[in-house]
Amino acid sequence: MSIEKVKENVYAITDGSTRGNVTAYVLPTQIVFVDSGMNIPLIKEFRKHVEQETGKKASILFITHEHGDHVFGNQAFEDCEIITSEFTHKEMLVSKEKNWSPEAIEEWKKNADDPSTLDGLKIALATKTFADEYELVDGDVKVIAKRTGGHTEGSSYIYCPNYNVLFAGDNLFNRQFPWGGPPSANPIKWIEALKEYLSLDIEHYIPGHGQISDKEPIDEFLVYLENVTSLIKEQIATGKSEEEILEQAEKIEYYPPREGREQWKNATLKKWYDVLST
Ligand SMILES: [Zn+2]
Repeated sequence: MSIEKVKENVYAITDGSTRGNVTAYVLPTQIVFVDSGMNIPLIKEFRKHVEQETGKKASILFITHEHGDHVFGNQAFEDCEIITSEFTHKEMLVSKEKNWSPEAIEEWKKNADDPSTLDGLKIALATKTFADEYELVDGDVKVIAKRTGGHTEGSSYIYCPNYNVLFAGDNLFNRQFPWGGPPSANPIKWIEALKEYLSLDIEHYIPGHGQISDKEPIDEFLVYLENVTSLIKEQIATGKSEEEILEQAEKIEYYPPREGREQWKNATLKKWYDVLST
């Protein structure tokens, strides 16, 4: 694991060691973490490192959305307020019942690079929720959580206007094909979210997966997403079949999915087609 000091008061892990990226904003009197990855020992180490280096304590964990690779480390923040959107909280309740049974967790472990990273996993749920927006003020520093939808209906970005840093969660896969297949994924909301990210005064964008960037990869992703959705909509209007439309959409060039996730492209285009055709 490598802990990046993104800039003064902002830390992150984006090397894939925690699967989903994680971040810490150091505020005047406390530390706010965003997402908890799916490697319990590493997230505990990350928290300890930032606390020791700054002499401050973690108080809040924000969760961008409900996927296991962003929330399985929540228990490292059980003494903190855990804050997420109402939608994400509801999805986590459902997953806790259905998809995160002890047997299912054993399956997750089998697919982890090192199964011991999920030893003793307990799903820690949110202690506070917001419908669309939540604002935290500490001295003269603000942290804003805002739900946009896109990757999932609950997908929220967490940004600090004072530090000019925005954590986008899985609405950004930096220079990789995104995962757009979740049941509540929506390409139209996704486009609006990307436009909103670009409209803000941001120096560092932290994606859910991949490296920290400036605006450039977001511009590229926005162009791609707009091209794909326009093509799908135009072809639906001219009465083309789903098969023909997906074949055309497939040809629009963009970065491939990361290794081992090659099936993401077809599943994502199919999901976007389904949303645009209803
Ligand atoms: Zn996700």
